[in-house]
Amino acid sequence: MNRQHRTGLRRPVLCFLILYSRTDAGYTAPIPGNRNEKRGEGMKVSAVLWDVDGTLLNFHASERQAVRTCFDRFSLGPCSDEMLADYARINLRWWQLLERGERTKHEILIGRFRELFDKYGISCEDVVEFNDEYQIRLGDTIVFEPGAKETVLALRGRVPQFAVTNGTKTAQQRKLARSGLEALLDAVFISEDVGAEKPSRQFFDAVFARLGGIPRDETVIVGDSLTSDIPGGINAGIRTVWYDPKGLPLPEGMRVDAVIRSIPEVLALMD
Ligand SMILES: [Mg+2]
Repeated sequence: MNRQHRTGLRRPVLCFLILYSRTDAGYTAPIPGNRNEKRGEGMKVSAVLWDVDGTLLNFHASERQAVRTCFDRFSLGPCSDEMLADYARINLRWWQLLERGERTKHEILIGRFRELFDKYGISCEDVVEFNDEYQIRLGDTIVFEPGAKETVLALRGRVPQFAVTNGTKTAQQRKLARSGLEALLDAVFISEDVGAEKPSRQFFDAVFARLGGIPRDETVIVGDSLTSDIPGGINAGIRTVWYDPKGLPLPEGMRVDAVIRSIPEVLALMD
């Protein structure tokens, strides 16, 4: 099976049966309220959509290692902790431009490194090639968020699980394969294949078109991003669970169905 096909339901017949049996049976999951809604509201969960970077996997660990490796390979000199921290901020800002539809993916992939190199006076002859290498190296370092793999394993057979990610196809396919998540999840949806990004309604419409009739109000998205996962879930009409490991305050006016500080808390939402 080629890589294009991996992004859809990889075991269509089996998934079809699982999806419908789970949808029929369902789970009465007590979503234990949140900072906006009453506690104790029951919820039927028929599918879980997982964000990948910063939710199932620790993105910063692989990001830091990948940038350092590329600096070495392109002989750009030492890459300091300060530069890495700067890069993380620059990168986040560029991705938010993409989420708002203000830049193309190619522009953000290249623009973030150009900005970093300009800031530190680094001469890189081919930023496109640098980014290509970076996409590959992102899959070199796999670090799960605490309890994430165990949680996915615990939910297997209970409810279908899918990855929904805005990362590039090169990086995401590699890290999902090397982490074992590709084999554990029922399907993977990468924005580059889908043709739209979270938080757009178009992205989620394309996902649900492949899910064989799972009701949206019985679907939960779990993610760390208040600019892609949560507004994406709201746009799509599904339930939202914000992964907030640092205990950050929820911005005024932002609505979520539940807030968790650790990934295994997802299991408690479904007991
Ligand atoms: Mg994320």
